[in-house]
Amino acid sequence: MARNPLQHWHFHKSPSQRINKDVLVLGAGIAGCTTAAALKKRGFHVTIIDRHSTAGCEGSGNRQAIVYPKLSPRDDLLPRVNLAAMQFASTYYQPFWQQGFGEQCGVMLLPENARAQKDFNAIGQRFQNQPELVQFLENSQLCESAGLELKAEIGLFFPKLGWLPPAEICQQLLMQQQIPLISADIHQLEYQNQCWHLLNAQRELISSAETLIIANAYGCQQFSQTAFLPVTQLRGQVTDLPASPASRFLKTVICGQGYITPEREGRHSCGATYNKGLFTTEVRDADHQSNIDQIGATDAALGALLGAQTLSQVQGRANYRCTTKDYLPIVGAVPELAEFIRDFEQLRKDARADITSGGSYLPNLYVNCGMGSRGLSYAPLTSELLAAEIAGEEPLINQELRLAMHPARFIVRDLKKKRI
Ligand SMILES: Cc1cc2nc3c(=O)[nH]c(=O)nc-3n(C[C@H](O)[C@H](O)[C@H](O)COP(=O)(O)OP(=O)(O)OC[C@H]3O[C@@H](n4cnc5c(N)ncnc54)[C@H](O)[C@@H]3O)c2cc1C
Repeated sequence: MARNPLQHWHFHKSPSQRINKDVLVLGAGIAGCTTAAALKKRGFHVTIIDRHSTAGCEGSGNRQAIVYPKLSPRDDLLPRVNLAAMQFASTYYQPFWQQGFGEQCGVMLLPENARAQKDFNAIGQRFQNQPELVQFLENSQLCESAGLELKAEIGLFFPKLGWLPPAEICQQLLMQQQIPLISADIHQLEYQNQCWHLLNAQRELISSAETLIIANAYGCQQFSQTAFLPVTQLRGQVTDLPASPASRFLKTVICGQGYITPEREGRHSCGATYNKGLFTTEVRDADHQSNIDQIGATDAALGALLGAQTLSQVQGRANYRCTTKDYLPIVGAVPELAEFIRDFEQLRKDARADITSGGSYLPNLYVNCGMGSRGLSYAPLTSELLAAEIAGEEPLINQELRLAMHPARFIVRDLKKKRI
């Protein structure tokens, strides 16, 4: 009989060695701020630390970011995690939308090619009884939902999603939960006398606490404790285009080859580029042009609607994503690498070995990063999961989905493939 391949994954249990309720969260982007808020709601004393003096200045700093949907006709892990995250996020952001931050205007997906078209048909059938989640629409319905004429023949519409200004959400979360922000660039983490100590470049102590959450995106690689996490710093640029009299009627977010948002203060946000191996936050004309071209490729009618855009009229912003190879975020207790490898080394010989060890972890050290292009969708769920685990609550999602996001998954995969 085939054994359940998850049998030996026992490390979902976080080691609870906490004595008091002081927690530091490093990184005030959407991951750090949602984590800080989720812990504060559970009675923890939370302080957030960032190298900027306000929240949401880096990856989470775009004017209009989308809560992206990702579904599949297949029952793969990635779309299952995305479904859970998207449903959680759409409820999580309700109060913000109601207070006027962003818009729950719906998100429309247009197929990029013939294969996507086929998938959309299958997704439409698979979720046909859940119109509140997703609707399969034909051209006339697409035009009605978008508020303007489109060329696309079919598309998917997610009525409960929309766009948000992520930096404002980060700042609101800290303000509403009265979470203080310390501004400091952290270079080193040290564990002494049962506390994590955060030090700057001059090795001055910035703050200490028993529990530390690392939520500083790709910056996690600078610390010896989390350097093993396989994340990539991936540049992207968004372009803000002046709305035309006709484009002002756009009612929903439209995504395909690129995306475009309904106008905010006379401008649509379009995006985004993926510039592998490029490390500058300077805004580049070539990237603006690529974003503009992508809108035309998403739907020819959109390109025509926006008219000829001269690059001198557009604005934009570039920053970095923190990506993972499996497109899933990284959330949970941080393994103690050398010991963890020893705990699970049998996997090198037998990838299906039953291992009863829970795995070795660094004391009270957690991570929440690897949000890729979907920080707005992933962060509310990963933060809630993490806070619930730290507080010793029952798991919110099933074990398979939970393990798919666990920091130790990379070590287990590498052991099985004899890469380490
Ligand atoms: C061009 C572009 C467009 C995007 N569009 C979307 C979109 O439409 N929808 C969507 O969901 N996602 C989008 N994303 C992705 C999204 O922005 C990220 O997934 C999300 O912002 C990640 O949040 P985070 O909190 O993990 O990281 P960040 O927001 O980058 O936060 C990390 C924080 O850690 C701080 N920090 C780092 N190192 C240190 C240190 N050593 N000491 C102190 N502080 C430190 C930084 O200052 C920063 O504030 C886009 C990304 C880009 C680049």
